[in-house]
Amino acid sequence: MTQALFRDDAYRAEAEAMVMSSEPRGVALDCTIFYAQGGGQSGDRATLMLEDGAAVPIVNTIYDSDRATILHVPAEGAALPRPGARVIARIDWDLRYQRMRAHTALHLLSVVLPYPVTGGSVGDAEGRLDFDSGEAVLDKANVERRLNELIALNAAVSQRWIADEELMANPGLIKTMSVKPPMGSGRVRLVAIDGLDLQPCGGTHVARTGEIGRALVTGIEKKGKINRRVRIALANA
Ligand SMILES: [Zn+2]
Repeated sequence: MTQALFRDDAYRAEAEAMVMSSEPRGVALDCTIFYAQGGGQSGDRATLMLEDGAAVPIVNTIYDSDRATILHVPAEGAALPRPGARVIARIDWDLRYQRMRAHTALHLLSVVLPYPVTGGSVGDAEGRLDFDSGEAVLDKANVERRLNELIALNAAVSQRWIADEELMANPGLIKTMSVKPPMGSGRVRLVAIDGLDLQPCGGTHVARTGEIGRALVTGIEKKGKINRRVRIALANA
């Protein structure tokens, strides 16, 4: 099992760790700051710095089949560290920070459009959510204006853990129907945007909404009779 440091501090860009196992399909560390692919967000890219100065490029971060071990996928042909070695793990920070900003913007989009969310994904400087918006007419310019108003509030983003049972007792907290909150460990992380939004989420977020900068609504597509896909992008990627 890998200790997931990114869940408690999304801003850590470097950390020391020990190699638990090392194979071409993935290097497991005792702890990691790299976000593992899931919940519609890609895994982090990064570098493992070895004691002899060699650098192992990591092209993706994924969960192993036990869902508890996180695997750092090395670039093809990269020399692997030996088990027991100490490494400095260094995240591709520019990319991660873009994803944190785009991801947090999606939370705000779900405030602007208070409809059930049926899907979503976070790209590098863009993202999308699918809404069951019924007969509502979604106006692109209007959605973009209201999204940027919320960003400009510079609201604080915080997180706390609750027990699975507490979440089950409050099903209204779950906005996304397709992406189940990461339950099973006995506790779930709730992400709050001060005064605006509260939902279970395992992703990485910025500390204040102002960090998102200006957001653009790049498209609203019809995905079925009552489903609309809304795409956003960061203006300053
Ligand atoms: Zn989130």
